[in-house]
Formats: sequence, C-alpha cells, structure tokens
Amino acid sequence: MLKKIGILGGGQLGRMLQEVAQKMNLPVWCMDKTKDSPAALFRDFFVQGDILNYDDVINFSADKDIITVEIEHVNLDALKELESQGKEVHPNPHALGIIKNKNKQKEFYSDLGIPVPIYWNFSDKNEALEIFSQWRDKVPFIYKSAEMGYDGKGVRTIRLQQDVEDLDNVAGSFEEKINIEIEVAVMIARSTNGKYVIYPPVGMYFDEGNHILSEVHYPIQLSSDWIAQMNDIAVKVTESLNICGLCAFEFFITTQGQVILNEIAPRPHNSMHISMNNAVCSQFEQHIRAISGLPLGSPVMDKKGIMYNIIGKDTDFGPTNWIGWENVLGMENVFIHLYGKSVIKPARKMGHINIVGEGFTQLKEKLHIIKDQFKNNNNG
Ligand code: ADP
Repeated sequence: MLKKIGILGGGQLGRMLQEVAQKMNLPVWCMDKTKDSPAALFRDFFVQGDILNYDDVINFSADKDIITVEIEHVNLDALKELESQGKEVHPNPHALGIIKNKNKQKEFYSDLGIPVPIYWNFSDKNEALEIFSQWRDKVPFIYKSAEMGYDGKGVRTIRLQQDVEDLDNVAGSFEEKINIEIEVAVMIARSTNGKYVIYPPVGMYFDEGNHILSEVHYPIQLSSDWIAQMNDIAVKVTESLNICGLCAFEFFITTQGQVILNEIAPRPHNSMHISMNNAVCSQFEQHIRAISGLPLGSPVMDKKGIMYNIIGKDTDFGPTNWIGWENVLGMENVFIHLYGKSVIKPARKMGHINIVGEGFTQLKEKLHIIKDQFKNNNNG
C-alpha cells in the first residue's frame, strides 16, 4: 500500500510538491492556516489548520504515514510526539530544532569544523549592546534574528549603536560582513535508505534593497575545488543531522576564494525552482521520492537556465491583474509558474519564470523582454 504523506504548510512550496504528487498519483495532503493558500488549489487534498498549533498538527497527521514540511516554523513538540508514535517525520524534529534557529545552526557547523562567518550570538538586546561595545571596531556587522527570519526579513546591517538600539529585544547574532564574490546554492536529496544525489551548483542573485532572491543562474563558473568543498559540506551536514528529503545549502564564495556556509533549509528551496524545467528530476519530485524511500531521480541539469522571481514591487497592493501573458507565452522555452495568490503586496513572492535552453545571451535577452512586459497592472 502506498504511504500517505502529510505536508505541513501550503504555500507555493507545498503547492508545487502537491503538483508532482498528483502527477505521480501519490496520496499527499497539505495543511495550512489560510483557506485560500496556494496549495488549496488541490481542494480535496487540503486541510485548513495551523502548523504552529500542537493539536492541529497531531490531528492532521493521525491518518498519515510520512510527515514533511515546506517551512521550518512548525510545532516541534507535535513532530516529536508523532515520531514517538512511530510515524516517519522528514526532516526529523531534532534537525529542524537546530535549523530553525540561526544561532544554533552556526554553533552546529562550527563544531563540525565547517567554515562560517565570524559570529557573536546573543540572547537579548542587552547582550547585543555589550557585544557591540566590545567589537565596534569591526563594524559593519550583519544582524540576524535567531528565529522567524527568512527572505531577508530578519537581516540588517549594523553600523552604529543606534542600529542596535533599534533591534527587537530577541535572540540573534552579529556576523562579520563577508566580501562576497558570488552566492551559490547546492541542493542535496537524501533518501530514507541513506542514498543521496546532489544537484549541480547554481548562482543566486539578490535584490539589494530587501535581500530577496531575484534570479538564479545555471550554470556558473566555479572551480572544481569549490564544488568539491560544497558537496562535502552538504553530505557531512545532512548525514550528521540524519536529514531525509531535500536539503538546500546556501554558500558565500568570498572575494578571497573561500567557501563559507551561510545557512541551510531542509526542504524544497527557491534556488532550485529552475529544476522544474531544466533537470531530469525536479526538486519537488525528488523530495517526494526521497521521503518515500522510492528510487531517487537524476539530478542532471541538461539545459542552461535562468529563474526569475516575480515579486511584489513597492507600488503593488491589492488584487492581482497580470498583463503581458501573450508576449511571454509566445516565447519558446519560457515557463510561467504562478502560485495562485490573489492579492499582491510589496516583497511578496507571487511566482517565478524559468527560461531555459540556450546560451546566456539569449536567456538574458528573453528575461529583459519578460521584465519589461509581464507585470501586475495596479490600475486594471
Ligand atoms: P534569509 O534567511 O532571510 O534569506 P540570509 O541569512 O540568507 O537571510 O541573508 C540574506 C542575504 O543577506 C544573503 O543572501 C546575503 O546576500 C546577505 N548576507 C547575509 N549574511 C551576510 C554576511 N555575513 N556578510 C555579507 N552578507 C550577508
């Protein structure tokens, strides 16, 4: 009998996991607090409930065999209980407990001897102020809140004491500001039987203003030594934490040529959305295969590609009204993936467009046209 899978979180990642599961005819349900969340597209396989609420998670999971997540911020006590009941929970709650907290992540990697930025963890604002006064000659620092920060929401540059005064009174860390040559992501998928595959590295390009991922490029020029270092780190960390399913690794390559681990995410990741149209097996199918103990798919990416995130601009508020479809759909090897969000807001991820196949000059020319023509019309 096929194992029933429950996904906690019904945002775009949950929706895209559902999409492949439906194609594979696998029994997969999603739970999310919001009735019209992206994964609610699959109404018969959608349950409304809060992934941070103990009872909701337990009730949703009662008739499932495998539980997985699309986001780290879930009720960990419930996951621990489900594990003790003999259900398969991927990623396991111990790993999630470390990963959902950036302070703990960095301590964990340092203990494994993996290079991370120099950092100072603190548990509240007073400690942050003490650290600042002791190390102020090292500014600028990058501040990161320990929990609930993603898509750049918990990241800030610190130069002055006032910047520290302005922080919320929560646990966090300061990091040295790295001189970054390029930001690279590596995705590993580890099956419940211990086998793994690693996708080739991709380059990540961020929006300067809000730190949100803007574009992903494949391939990128990297030395084989860097790739080997990144792959070794991916294997070491996933095995140490016994992670099953996908795990994305975000690295900085410094201007001095050093590989530094920034953070990881044990789930599908925005950096690998390009795999939907340029890889033999997309990250979403791979995750379902890995957590189900099915044979892993090939991570080979046989086409060049650019992924472009469609993100709400500062002027975008209200119902969505996309214009320029015809021009984009008329282009060969261009794929629009919208997440079904009916309301657009600044910095909200609404969808992405994959452009694959040719040389980078043509890919960039197409992207230029897409950026110019495909947009939300606020006046419509
Ligand atoms: P989030 O989890 O919100 O995506 P990250 O920790 O990945 O936050 O940081 C967001 C971005 O901020 C990174 O992609 C990078 O561009 C920049 N950044 C983060 N840490 C540093 C650092 N120590 N030095 C320089 N830039 C950094």
